[in-house]
Amino acid sequence: MTTKSARRQLTPVPFTQITLDDPFWSPRQETNRTVTIPHMHQMLMETGRIPAFDLNFTRLVPSPIVEIFGDSDAAKWLEAACYALTTRPDPPLAALVNEFAGKVVAAQQPDGYLNTHFIVTQPDLRWKNLRDWHEMYCAGHLIEAAIAHHQATGDPKLLNALCRYADHIDTHFGSEPGKRRGYDGHPEIELALVRLYHATGERRYLKLAQYMVEERGQSPNYFDIEARERGEDPAHFWAKTYEYCQAHAPIRQQDKVVGHAVRAMYLLAGVADLAHELDDPTLLETCERLWDNLVHRRMYLTGGIGPSRRNEGFTTDYDLPDESAYAETCAAIALILWNHRLLQVNGDGKYADIIEQTLYNGFISGVSLDGKHFFYDNPLASAGDHHRVPWFACPCCPPNLGRLLASLGNYFYSTSADGIWTHLYAQSSARVQVQGQDVEVRQVTNYPWDGAIRLELRPAQPQTFTLHLRIPGWCDEWQVRVNGAPLAEDPALTKGYLAIHRTWGPGDQVELTLAMPVQSVWAHPAVRQMQGRLALQRGPIVYCMESVDHNGLGLDRISLDPAAVEQLTIEHRPDLLGGVTVLCGAAALIQAAGWEDALYRRNRPPTTQPVDVTAIPYCVWDNRAPGEMRVWFRTG
Ligand code: ZN
Repeated sequence: MTTKSARRQLTPVPFTQITLDDPFWSPRQETNRTVTIPHMHQMLMETGRIPAFDLNFTRLVPSPIVEIFGDSDAAKWLEAACYALTTRPDPPLAALVNEFAGKVVAAQQPDGYLNTHFIVTQPDLRWKNLRDWHEMYCAGHLIEAAIAHHQATGDPKLLNALCRYADHIDTHFGSEPGKRRGYDGHPEIELALVRLYHATGERRYLKLAQYMVEERGQSPNYFDIEARERGEDPAHFWAKTYEYCQAHAPIRQQDKVVGHAVRAMYLLAGVADLAHELDDPTLLETCERLWDNLVHRRMYLTGGIGPSRRNEGFTTDYDLPDESAYAETCAAIALILWNHRLLQVNGDGKYADIIEQTLYNGFISGVSLDGKHFFYDNPLASAGDHHRVPWFACPCCPPNLGRLLASLGNYFYSTSADGIWTHLYAQSSARVQVQGQDVEVRQVTNYPWDGAIRLELRPAQPQTFTLHLRIPGWCDEWQVRVNGAPLAEDPALTKGYLAIHRTWGPGDQVELTLAMPVQSVWAHPAVRQMQGRLALQRGPIVYCMESVDHNGLGLDRISLDPAAVEQLTIEHRPDLLGGVTVLCGAAALIQAAGWEDALYRRNRPPTTQPVDVTAIPYCVWDNRAPGEMRVWFRTG
């Protein structure tokens, strides 16, 4: 039996309180606002996803599944646009937002129902296939959009509409007599309902989220019941297993992350929310157990998760192929959402490490530097045939990326009863409330290209509190000085954070220096695809090589000497790929000469010759001439 509390000790500082002006994220945010969000609006118009809310389209049925969940794509765009508006006035964007919000409100049916596909095309099939048809998933994204819209505009009309829709769902589904014991095959509404509870104070939304998490996977399985009602044999489920829709077992009985990666992460984000809201240690322990399985056995170095295209999800422990890695952008985003919730429980830096690792690598790789091209899957190697595209038939990833990028400030700071927590580093200004007092926090740094970080604290008047500084998991050597002097006591780390308790006055400065040598990264011996290979990392940035820097040489023939990795030259190239730090140096190239007519040869291993190589950050690959890419390199 456990007695620990699942309540969060930390409270995130919202993105509205932080402004980034760093070299890495702030140009990405600006491109997101000025290019990506308008581009997505255009795509959502052209593909009918926004006009669908006018309810005058025709569609063949059975419809392609991608159109069934089209409302969610438009909803995520609205959420992204509202976050962008919250931080910066933009009248043309505000006009698009208001126009679309008005369409959504007008599309709502008298009973509160709000899903364009089933209103227009198949009204008699509402709520008949929760396993496959994403109605509650779409509702969840509309709820999140409505909360963001209310925050950005102060206008409650969309939020009120989505409350009515949530009430409609609450009327039909639950464990009370007369309700159906259904829940969605694609989790998302659970975390959205917790947000709706926060936005409205209506506890019934929290109870509905709790019901949906706890009913999921119970026996008899609801998806069996509704399949039989449709006249189908549940054994003929196309995905073969309810792991795919996270309904194979009750959540507290699970010990591995399985099935569809995005569904798993959204569900677990909701579970982490409920652990806190209900102070339920069994739900927190479930998260911790599944986190261990994911992070220690099933996650790519880039923070990508879900290696398999077949189920857009998980396979077996230590199965992490690089070239066929699926690693959907949405899964990286949902992984960040889940870890952010767990981080707030008691400030364990291992969760912030995952957030940082994913943000700088497998998340932001999802969008091109021009802001108009996207990856759905983010492999760690390519033969040269994988490229970002302007849009997808199933465009879940672009607006998801847009909403996270527009609200990125959410992940930088938290507060607790004793002070401020600094989770991420980037040049920025923030206003943080500590014990009821405003404290301005200025970060001056060239992170992630340099590990020197200066924090300037400006409380309104001298104030005693603790500053918790995260020391990233990748960092082996660091120094900290306060107002130029080393700390009096030897600083100790608690769960990855350094606590500095003192009376802070206006203008006090903390200098944190994180050593950033080039590091070689090795995979667990059970990861068969990575054996005899290393990857390059510096700070939070995972590196790759592209053939455009290597005269088209086969990158699989490049061999790196582990002992020479630290001697690679670190060069900042302001004119390359938006300004990146590259790694340059010598490697060995396996020779193809002498093999002209031979596929195999006996007793004569290949020879090598020296070659100069250049590694670039993984997240900016495929922004130049198309070609091969590789993250993991042979060492012999
Ligand atoms: Zn996606």
